Amino acid sequence: MINPEIIRIKSWVYWPKTLIMAWVHGNEKSGIHAIKMLKSISLVCWELILINANIFAQKKWKRYIEKDLNRCFGQKKEWTLECRLATIIEPYIQACDTLLDIHNTTGSTGVRFVICEQDKHLTSFDVDIHLSGLDVLHPGWSDWYANTLGKHWYCLESGSIHEDILVSTNFAYQSCLNLLKTLGQVKWKPKVYTNKIKILCKDIYKTQTHSFLLSKNFWDFEEIKKGQLIAFDWKDKIFSQEDWIIIFPYKQEKIGNEWFVFWKKLD
Ligand SMILES: [Zn+2]
Repeated sequence: MINPEIIRIKSWVYWPKTLIMAWVHGNEKSGIHAIKMLKSISLVCWELILINANIFAQKKWKRYIEKDLNRCFGQKKEWTLECRLATIIEPYIQACDTLLDIHNTTGSTGVRFVICEQDKHLTSFDVDIHLSGLDVLHPGWSDWYANTLGKHWYCLESGSIHEDILVSTNFAYQSCLNLLKTLGQVKWKPKVYTNKIKILCKDIYKTQTHSFLLSKNFWDFEEIKKGQLIAFDWKDKIFSQEDWIIIFPYKQEKIGNEWFVFWKKLD
């Protein structure tokens, strides 16, 4: 097991603390490069903690080794690499006030968006889309865990793993920097990004068998109609219950461990 890399950057005031985390999924690169660039940052106040979470998975170039780390937080701990990593990381989440977790999507569209359950500091992020409502359907991910502790948590999907790494890295780095400016931890006025499209999570589908097949290739944020065939799960046909938007419609390999998510635009 390789422990998470934890870097602490202190100013003259140690409290409150901000946490920026990358590599929760080992095949998502932009966050780690952003963290490398942040190591030399000079803070006006507070403490900044940077975490590279799953280094072993990164070395293997995999999303995870034994269990998705983003399903392990605040859960009963099994004897897996990722559950042990979650045990090490959880005290840092508990100690921080504001937290940013950087990810990449595995789809090809590269849509950037933020997932969080509140509006505070949301103007820091240069994205058009704000997703919420995932927590009640998705316990065990870092966002859910932080929210149960009353923290301000943001999950930033900083582009596709298939797009130019320089572009998504720069986006992730600029997003971190602008959040730190918004918090007043870094000198200079933050940029303010308003008018986000708000989308609410309505349902999650978890695969029931190993014989799972999508009915076609869906794009992230593709609009689907009520009654539309989405997938085959062995003998079961999965239909959309409403006119929804589908996100994370990727190849599924593990029973009950992966899913696609239905969302609805709010008026
Ligand atoms: Zn991820």
